[in-house]
Amino acid sequence: MKGPKSRAVWPAHIPRWFHPLLQWWWPGTQWATEASQAVHLTFDDGPHPEITPWVLDQLQAHQMTATFFVLGAAARSHSDVIKRTVAQGHAVGGHTMNHEHGWHTDTAAYVQSAKTSMEVGHDGRSLFRPPFGKITRTQCLALLPYAQIVMWDVLSGDYVVNGNRGEEIVLRRLKRHTRPGSIVVFHDNEKCGATIKKVLPEYLLWLQQKGWTSTHLEAKVSAKD
Ligand SMILES: [Zn+2]
Repeated sequence: MKGPKSRAVWPAHIPRWFHPLLQWWWPGTQWATEASQAVHLTFDDGPHPEITPWVLDQLQAHQMTATFFVLGAAARSHSDVIKRTVAQGHAVGGHTMNHEHGWHTDTAAYVQSAKTSMEVGHDGRSLFRPPFGKITRTQCLALLPYAQIVMWDVLSGDYVVNGNRGEEIVLRRLKRHTRPGSIVVFHDNEKCGATIKKVLPEYLLWLQQKGWTSTHLEAKVSAKD
Protein backbone atom coordinates (compact mmCIF):
# COMPACT_ATOMS: atom_id res chain seq x y z
CA MET A 1 0.00 0.00 0.00
CA LYS A 2 1.46 3.33 -0.98
CA GLY A 3 0.71 6.46 -2.88
CA PRO A 4 -1.68 9.34 -2.47
CA LYS A 5 -4.75 7.24 -3.24
CA SER A 6 -4.16 5.10 -0.19
CA ARG A 7 -6.58 6.64 2.28
CA ALA A 8 -6.60 5.19 5.77
CA VAL A 9 -9.88 3.35 5.33
CA TRP A 10 -8.63 0.22 7.06
CA PRO A 11 -8.40 0.13 10.85
CA ALA A 12 -5.12 -0.88 12.55
CA HIS A 13 -6.73 -4.09 13.71
CA ILE A 14 -9.55 -6.18 12.24
CA PRO A 15 -11.02 -8.37 15.01
CA ARG A 16 -11.60 -12.04 14.25
CA TRP A 17 -15.34 -11.96 14.79
CA PHE A 18 -15.50 -9.63 11.78
CA HIS A 19 -13.58 -11.91 9.38
CA PRO A 20 -16.58 -14.10 8.34
CA LEU A 21 -18.42 -11.00 7.18
CA LEU A 22 -15.42 -9.88 5.12
CA GLN A 23 -15.14 -13.40 3.71
CA TRP A 24 -18.77 -13.36 2.76
CA TRP A 25 -18.17 -10.29 0.62
CA TRP A 26 -14.72 -11.37 -0.64
CA PRO A 27 -14.98 -15.18 -0.86
CA GLY A 28 -11.83 -17.17 -0.14
CA THR A 29 -9.89 -14.28 1.40
CA GLN A 30 -7.64 -14.99 4.37
CA TRP A 31 -7.43 -12.58 7.33
CA ALA A 32 -5.67 -14.66 10.02
CA THR A 33 -4.73 -18.31 10.64
CA GLU A 34 -5.18 -20.83 13.44
CA ALA A 35 -1.44 -20.94 14.25
CA SER A 36 -0.91 -21.20 17.99
CA GLN A 37 2.75 -20.17 18.37
CA ALA A 38 3.40 -18.17 15.22
CA VAL A 39 2.39 -14.97 13.52
CA HIS A 40 2.75 -14.27 9.82
CA LEU A 41 4.81 -11.23 8.94
CA THR A 42 4.15 -9.92 5.45
CA PHE A 43 6.06 -7.30 3.48
CA ASP A 44 4.41 -5.48 0.57
CA ASP A 45 5.68 -3.38 -2.36
CA GLY A 46 9.21 -4.84 -2.70
CA PRO A 47 11.61 -6.01 -3.71
CA HIS A 48 13.80 -3.02 -2.89
CA PRO A 49 17.54 -3.46 -3.59
CA GLU A 50 18.63 -2.24 -0.16
CA ILE A 51 15.67 -2.45 2.23
CA THR A 52 14.57 -5.99 1.32
CA PRO A 53 18.04 -7.51 1.93
CA TRP A 54 18.11 -5.71 5.29
CA VAL A 55 14.73 -7.26 6.19
CA LEU A 56 16.04 -10.67 5.09
CA ASP A 57 19.06 -10.25 7.40
CA GLN A 58 16.79 -9.44 10.33
CA LEU A 59 14.54 -12.44 9.70
CA GLN A 60 17.54 -14.71 9.29
CA ALA A 61 19.04 -13.51 12.57
CA HIS A 62 15.80 -14.45 14.36
CA GLN A 63 15.18 -17.63 12.35
CA MET A 64 11.81 -16.45 11.15
CA THR A 65 10.15 -16.71 7.77
CA ALA A 66 7.77 -14.26 6.15
CA THR A 67 5.71 -13.69 3.03
CA PHE A 68 6.76 -11.02 0.54
CA PHE A 69 4.03 -9.61 -1.71
CA VAL A 70 6.11 -8.23 -4.54
CA LEU A 71 5.42 -5.90 -7.43
CA GLY A 72 6.05 -7.81 -10.64
CA ALA A 73 7.91 -4.95 -12.34
CA ALA A 74 10.28 -4.46 -9.37
CA ALA A 75 10.78 -8.22 -9.10
CA ARG A 76 11.97 -8.33 -12.70
CA SER A 77 14.49 -5.55 -12.00
CA HIS A 78 15.75 -7.15 -8.79
CA SER A 79 15.60 -10.85 -9.51
CA ASP A 80 18.70 -11.40 -7.33
CA VAL A 81 16.73 -10.21 -4.30
CA ILE A 82 13.86 -12.54 -5.20
CA LYS A 83 16.28 -15.44 -5.51
CA ARG A 84 17.72 -14.77 -2.07
CA THR A 85 14.23 -14.42 -0.59
CA VAL A 86 13.17 -17.82 -1.92
CA ALA A 87 16.52 -19.43 -1.01
CA GLN A 88 16.04 -18.26 2.57
CA GLY A 89 12.74 -20.15 2.76
CA HIS A 90 10.30 -17.26 2.56
CA ALA A 91 7.16 -17.23 0.46
CA VAL A 92 6.88 -14.82 -2.45
CA GLY A 93 3.40 -13.75 -3.46
CA GLY A 94 2.13 -11.27 -6.02
CA HIS A 95 0.95 -7.69 -5.49
CA THR A 96 0.15 -6.87 -9.17
CA MET A 97 2.76 -5.65 -11.64
CA ASN A 98 2.65 -1.92 -10.85
CA HIS A 99 0.51 -1.51 -7.75
CA GLU A 100 -2.78 -1.28 -9.59
CA HIS A 101 -5.83 -0.11 -7.68
CA GLY A 102 -8.56 -2.73 -8.12
CA TRP A 103 -11.44 -0.29 -8.02
CA HIS A 104 -9.91 1.70 -10.89
CA THR A 105 -8.79 -1.24 -13.03
CA ASP A 106 -10.73 -3.37 -15.47
CA THR A 107 -11.23 -6.90 -14.13
CA ALA A 108 -9.52 -8.76 -17.00
CA ALA A 109 -6.46 -6.48 -16.82
CA TYR A 110 -6.36 -6.74 -13.04
CA VAL A 111 -6.52 -10.52 -13.01
CA GLN A 112 -3.79 -10.73 -15.65
CA SER A 113 -1.54 -8.37 -13.68
CA ALA A 114 -2.15 -10.33 -10.48
CA LYS A 115 -1.40 -13.67 -12.14
CA THR A 116 1.80 -12.39 -13.76
CA SER A 117 3.01 -10.89 -10.48
CA MET A 118 2.47 -14.24 -8.73
CA GLU A 119 4.73 -16.03 -11.17
CA VAL A 120 7.93 -14.15 -10.28
CA GLY A 121 8.59 -16.06 -7.09
CA HIS A 122 8.50 -19.45 -8.82
CA ASP A 123 7.92 -20.94 -5.41
CA GLY A 124 4.89 -23.01 -6.45
CA ARG A 125 2.53 -21.06 -4.24
CA SER A 126 -0.09 -18.69 -5.55
CA LEU A 127 -0.46 -16.06 -2.89
CA PHE A 128 -1.83 -12.64 -3.79
CA ARG A 129 -2.46 -9.44 -1.89
CA PRO A 130 -4.41 -6.61 -3.53
CA PRO A 131 -2.64 -3.21 -3.40
CA PHE A 132 -4.35 -0.79 -0.99
CA GLY A 133 -6.52 -3.74 0.04
CA LYS A 134 -8.81 -2.53 -2.75
CA ILE A 135 -10.26 -5.32 -4.83
CA THR A 136 -13.79 -5.64 -6.17
CA ARG A 137 -15.93 -8.67 -5.41
CA THR A 138 -15.93 -9.53 -9.13
CA GLN A 139 -12.12 -9.43 -9.27
CA CYS A 140 -11.93 -11.54 -6.15
CA LEU A 141 -14.23 -14.19 -7.64
CA ALA A 142 -12.28 -14.14 -10.93
CA LEU A 143 -8.99 -14.71 -9.08
CA LEU A 144 -10.32 -17.36 -6.74
CA PRO A 145 -9.36 -20.40 -8.90
CA TYR A 146 -5.81 -19.09 -9.26
CA ALA A 147 -4.88 -17.46 -6.00
CA GLN A 148 -5.07 -17.51 -2.25
CA ILE A 149 -5.96 -13.89 -1.58
CA VAL A 150 -4.25 -12.82 1.62
CA MET A 151 -5.49 -9.83 3.55
CA TRP A 152 -4.44 -9.18 7.19
CA ASP A 153 -5.68 -8.46 10.68
CA VAL A 154 -2.87 -6.17 11.88
CA LEU A 155 -1.57 -3.12 10.02
CA SER A 156 1.76 -1.86 11.32
CA GLY A 157 0.94 1.58 9.94
CA ASP A 158 4.57 1.95 8.86
CA TYR A 159 3.34 4.05 5.94
CA VAL A 160 1.85 6.67 8.23
CA VAL A 161 4.83 8.25 9.95
CA ASN A 162 3.52 10.53 12.61
CA GLY A 163 6.33 12.97 13.42
CA ASN A 164 9.23 11.97 15.64
CA ARG A 165 7.16 9.56 17.65
CA GLY A 166 5.99 7.65 14.60
CA GLU A 167 8.04 4.55 15.32
CA GLU A 168 6.91 4.48 18.92
CA ILE A 169 3.28 4.59 17.83
CA VAL A 170 3.83 1.83 15.24
CA LEU A 171 5.47 -0.41 17.84
CA ARG A 172 2.81 0.18 20.45
CA ARG A 173 0.09 -0.60 17.92
CA LEU A 174 1.86 -3.80 16.83
CA LYS A 175 2.29 -5.04 20.39
CA ARG A 176 -1.31 -4.27 21.28
CA HIS A 177 -2.87 -6.14 18.35
CA THR A 178 -0.52 -9.02 17.48
CA ARG A 179 -1.78 -12.49 18.49
CA PRO A 180 -0.79 -15.99 17.34
CA GLY A 181 -2.21 -16.45 13.84
CA SER A 182 -2.11 -12.74 13.08
CA ILE A 183 -1.21 -11.65 9.57
CA VAL A 184 0.84 -8.46 10.00
CA VAL A 185 1.50 -5.93 7.23
CA PHE A 186 4.80 -4.08 6.71
CA HIS A 187 6.19 -2.39 3.60
CA ASP A 188 9.73 -2.95 2.33
CA ASN A 189 9.63 0.09 0.09
CA GLU A 190 11.45 3.43 -0.10
CA LYS A 191 8.81 5.32 1.84
CA CYS A 192 8.71 2.97 4.81
CA GLY A 193 12.35 1.87 4.93
CA ALA A 194 13.43 4.27 7.68
CA THR A 195 10.45 3.34 9.85
CA ILE A 196 10.77 -0.43 9.58
CA LYS A 197 14.50 -0.20 10.29
CA LYS A 198 13.65 1.32 13.65
CA VAL A 199 10.64 -0.85 14.39
CA LEU A 200 11.39 -4.34 13.12
CA PRO A 201 14.36 -5.34 15.34
CA GLU A 202 12.48 -4.52 18.54
CA TYR A 203 9.28 -6.14 17.26
CA LEU A 204 11.07 -9.38 16.36
CA LEU A 205 12.68 -9.44 19.79
CA TRP A 206 9.28 -8.90 21.41
CA LEU A 207 7.81 -11.80 19.40
CA GLN A 208 10.63 -14.03 20.65
CA GLN A 209 10.08 -12.95 24.23
CA LYS A 210 6.43 -13.96 23.82
CA GLY A 211 7.59 -17.40 22.67
CA TRP A 212 6.28 -16.79 19.17
CA THR A 213 7.93 -16.89 15.78
CA SER A 214 6.93 -15.91 12.25
CA THR A 215 6.12 -18.44 9.57
CA HIS A 216 5.27 -17.81 5.94
CA LEU A 217 1.79 -18.37 4.59
CA GLU A 218 0.70 -21.29 2.44
CA ALA A 219 -1.74 -21.14 -0.43
CA LYS A 220 -4.89 -23.21 -0.14
CA VAL A 221 -5.10 -23.44 -3.92
CA SER A 222 -2.40 -24.72 -6.23
CA ALA A 223 -1.00 -22.81 -9.17
CA LYS A 224 -3.08 -23.13 -12.34
CA ASP A 225 -3.13 -21.42 -15.68
ZN1 LIG B 1 1.14 -2.17 -1.66
